[in-house]
Amino acid sequence: MDACDIAIVGAGPAGALCAWLLAGAAPDRRIVLLDAEASPRHRPCGEYLSPGGLGVLDRAGLLETVCATGAKRLSGLALRGPHGGHAVPYQPILGLAPPVPFGLGVRRERLDLALQEAAATRCRLVREARVSSLQREGDGWELRTTQGHRHHARLVIGADGRGSLVRRACGLDRRPSRMRFALVARAHGVDHGEVGEMHLGPLGQVGLCPLGDGEVNLNLLLAPASGGLLRRMPRDRLLRAALAATPGLAARTRQAVLGPVMATGSLPQGCRTIAADGVALVGDAGGFCDPFTGEGMSLALRGAELLAGALASSRGLAGYAADFNRAIGRRRRVGELLQGLIQRRRLAEGLAAGIDAVPLLGRLLVADAAGYRRG
Ligand SMILES: Cc1cc2nc3c(=O)[nH]c(=O)nc-3n(C[C@H](O)[C@H](O)[C@H](O)COP(=O)(O)OP(=O)(O)OC[C@H]3O[C@@H](n4cnc5c(N)ncnc54)[C@H](O)[C@@H]3O)c2cc1C
Repeated sequence: MDACDIAIVGAGPAGALCAWLLAGAAPDRRIVLLDAEASPRHRPCGEYLSPGGLGVLDRAGLLETVCATGAKRLSGLALRGPHGGHAVPYQPILGLAPPVPFGLGVRRERLDLALQEAAATRCRLVREARVSSLQREGDGWELRTTQGHRHHARLVIGADGRGSLVRRACGLDRRPSRMRFALVARAHGVDHGEVGEMHLGPLGQVGLCPLGDGEVNLNLLLAPASGGLLRRMPRDRLLRAALAATPGLAARTRQAVLGPVMATGSLPQGCRTIAADGVALVGDAGGFCDPFTGEGMSLALRGAELLAGALASSRGLAGYAADFNRAIGRRRRVGELLQGLIQRRRLAEGLAAGIDAVPLLGRLLVADAAGYRRG
């Protein structure tokens, strides 16, 4: 049995950053970072990282490392409805400024690898370690992996994503409110600029994120009413149909050469609490909603920063829960509210028209989603 102070389950953005920060703050702590996969892979994600998430990486000393993965710098975010829209540059507004003046289009496997390699310089990273059970044992937890390893840890951090085993094993699951589906593909041959784009189309919300070298990420979050199409149509045809039906994308994507189209059930999954006795949840494991502007990674990174900060101080898990509710809880509620709005076609069109008619509204929306700060 391998004994440690902290076991972090999952080495995605949340787990890897958490390991890097915790080990940096207390080098004597025995920290093990466990991940199910043999190496990071291309997973369903819009691959857009906002200035808010980049601010977290900057404070952690990892911004240059991530930029050096060949990520594409983005100067703003475009919000487009059926009748037009415009790009919002990452510029100060009403005394609020982006923590970093750009966003990034970053291939997920490269981002995850860069963060894991950084973490591995400070703590023990074990790949191909899928945690299959978690049980109370003495003053901590015993974790078992499907590969037959056993670990004992005083504190367990669940950073194992939307379907978190840690959350389920600790009885912290909350039933998802509804199922949403998403399709994601990388593509070439799409006319694009230097900004991330979010389009409200008739089949759902379509994101476009430039990744560099002429490649873009196209991702479709299907409207609830369109979810059934996934059973009746092949994925690539459905994605092409959604692109053809979205006014701001139809002409630009006609010649697109699509890579493999991945489908995922995008669960708006919640949890009862993100910190309990001897266990903390971070990133998607601590609750996932379908955010309007693709903020999941940034919120996962911010959560890791808050957890590491609270554990490094005397505030502990209770301090983490309080900081999380203040900093991330409100953002999630705004995201859920916007999702509720844009699921109803009339309201979605009204919101898009409002953003078009009052550019300040779009700029404030982007400022909130992209983690702008005062000063
Ligand atoms: C369709 C779609 C598009 C999205 N687009 C964007 C976007 O453009 N921008 C954005 O910021 N966010 C986006 N998101 C959200 C984003 O992908 C997540 O919020 C982010 O990946 C959360 O990071 P995480 O570290 O919490 O979890 P994950 O990235 O899911 O990482 C979890 C890690 O845990 C490991 N793991 C899982 N189970 C176990 C286990 N039992 N034992 C050990 N290891 C385990 C996995 O191998 C994985 O490495 C999107 C999500 C979806 C579904």
